[in-house]
Order: sequence, then C-alpha cells, then structure tokens
Amino acid sequence: MVNKQLVDQFGRRVNYLRLSVTDRCDYRCVYCMAEDMTFLPREQILTLEEQLRICSNFVDLGVEKIRLTGGEPLIRRNIMALIEPLGALEGLRELVLTTNGSMLKSLAKPLKNAGVRRINVSLDSLKADRFKQITRTGKLEVVLQGIEESIEAGFERIKINAIIIKGRNEDEIIPLIQYVKERGLDISFIEEMPLGTTLAYDRAESFMSSVELRRVIEQEYSLTASTKDSGGPAKYFDLEGSNTRVGFISPHSNNFCSTCNRVRLTSDGRLLLCLGNEHSVDLRPLLRQQHSDDEIKQVLMDAMNIKPERHHFDLNEKPQIVRFMNMTGG
Ligand code: SAM
Ligand code: SF4
Repeated sequence: MVNKQLVDQFGRRVNYLRLSVTDRCDYRCVYCMAEDMTFLPREQILTLEEQLRICSNFVDLGVEKIRLTGGEPLIRRNIMALIEPLGALEGLRELVLTTNGSMLKSLAKPLKNAGVRRINVSLDSLKADRFKQITRTGKLEVVLQGIEESIEAGFERIKINAIIIKGRNEDEIIPLIQYVKERGLDISFIEEMPLGTTLAYDRAESFMSSVELRRVIEQEYSLTASTKDSGGPAKYFDLEGSNTRVGFISPHSNNFCSTCNRVRLTSDGRLLLCLGNEHSVDLRPLLRQQHSDDEIKQVLMDAMNIKPERHHFDLNEKPQIVRFMNMTGG
C-alpha cells in the first residue's frame, strides 16, 4: 500500500500519533490520578512489539510524528526496546516524548542516542514539599537532576509542562519562567482539563486561564507572539532577551479543532479519534487475531470516518469524559 494517507471526512490529514505506552505511573498527580488507582491487567496492555507494529503501520500511512506518553512512558519495562526501533523507522520525522522526569537521569542519553529529538518534562513546582504534595509520591531533586542530564544529552529542545492551580502553585509562575530562561528551555502552561473523576478540589475554583497566566508573566517579561504555528491547542510566545518560548495550551477552547492532525492510542490498544469525545476503535483484537498489515491499515483509514469535527469541555459541568489522563496520555 503506497501513497495512502489518513484523511478524515472534514479533509483533515492525520500525521501525528500520541501513544500511551502504559497506563501506570510512579506518581499520582492530583489532577491526573486518584490516590488509590487500579491499573489495567497486564494482558490487556499492548506488548512493545504490538505497539511497534501499530506505529509502523501509521508511519506507512503518512504519520510523521509520534509522541510517547502515558502514564509514565519511561517506567515501562524495557521501553528502549520500543524506542530504538521507532527511532529507526524510515518516514518518521519526529519521535518525541512526554515524561515526569523521574527516570531521565539514567535514560536521557539512551533516548537521545535512539533518535528522540525533543522531550517535554512535567514540572509544576520548584519547591520540594509542594512538588511532593502535587505528585503525591515524586521527589523534586530527582527530576531536576534528570533535567540537567537531559540538557547535557543535547536534545534539540526541552520543554517544561506546568499546570498552574490557583491557591496551590500560582506563586511559581515567575520562578518557573526564570528556571527555563536560565537554561534555555521552553515552557508550556497547560490549562487543566476536566477528565476523570479525581476531584480532590473544585476544578472551576482553581482553574487558571491562559489569559490570566499571561497577565502575570507580562508584569515581569515581555512576550512576543511567535510566528511558529504548533498545529495544536498551543499558542507560543518568544520571551524577551532569551531563546525561550512560552506556550499556553488551552484545551478548553476548540478553535484548533479545524486543524486537528492527531489521534491517540491508549495503552490497551484503543484508537481515540478526539481527546474530548469517546469515538474510538479497538485495535487490540486485530493485533491478536493474526490480521495482516494491509488489514490493519484499512481499519486505520476507515477509523478516520468517525473522527468528530470538534470537542466540547465545560468546567462547570460534571466531567463528561470519565477516562483518566493516564489512559489517554494527555
Ligand atoms: N507522565 C508523563 C508526564 O506527567 O509528563 C506523561 C503523561 S501525562 C498524562 C501528560 C501531561 O498531561 C502532563 O504534562 C500532565 O501535566 C498533563 N495532565 C495530566 N492531567 C491533566 C489534566 N487533568 N488536565 C490537563 N493536563 C493534564
Ligand atoms: Fe503520572 Fe504524568 Fe499523570 Fe502525573 S501527570 S500522575 S506523572 S501520568
């Protein structure tokens, strides 16, 4: 099958896959997971070989960018056995990763050597006790060491992802900007999404919008709109006097849906066509019932027909999507 592409009924070409390699995590961030999580039984999780096979079929169909996420992708046992062959896939232009940073100290260099070009590291606080409160189990020092190791490894870009919650960490906005500026990193502030049912606090109360965040930053720094379009829910700005880019990711707005180029694969093999909707196709049976690669490609192409036009999120309503973020990979 040559020259076949993934195009949905609204003419959008899908060339970006986000793969949740595991639903498990060594952290229990308050906005992402419940304290006491039940994870999927291991036999329901795709093997690394199955994940590689799906990725390779996606790349044959024109997918040029794959982001590995989770759960925590780097705690999956033997994860390099997936990442190394992915890095060698012809046609895949960008292999990137989102991580909580807990394993970067030992894995930054192997990742870079395997062809991972950019990494995103989630970091909501530079204060050890607060970092622990937010992640419930994380150690700040380990993550900071992992980031230094990653800088040394020489990734093209390293981006910090931060979720700012009023009454919890809004005093960290400027320190986080200083931290990335000093190191030549980028940063994105992500608006919290009403996913799952982890409500340890009232989301509508603590939500900090991108507009509010920008106002705080612009009291100290000047931001200039960047010409680069992410093709996703992020707006980027250049930070004055540095090569740092500051992004604001507003998944609540749906004005990026018209250019949506991405799909997600859950760790148990469900292809999600939209983060804010339940439209999905279960790929695991195909993988486990000896279907050919051509049959898998046909299913992927057919799946494009159910990609919804747009999503709706409303902070004041009960979460409509009951998946936890670790299922979908963010
Ligand atoms: N464990 C890795 C990490 O934390 O970076 C990768 C998976 S995590 C689900 C991916 C991203 O989703 C993280 O940057 C995290 O902050 C974000 N996230 C988790 N729950 C969220 C929520 N309810 N709303 C918005 N972003 C969320
Ligand atoms: Fe784990 Fe990432 Fe979710 Fe935190 S945000 S619990 S690190 S998957």
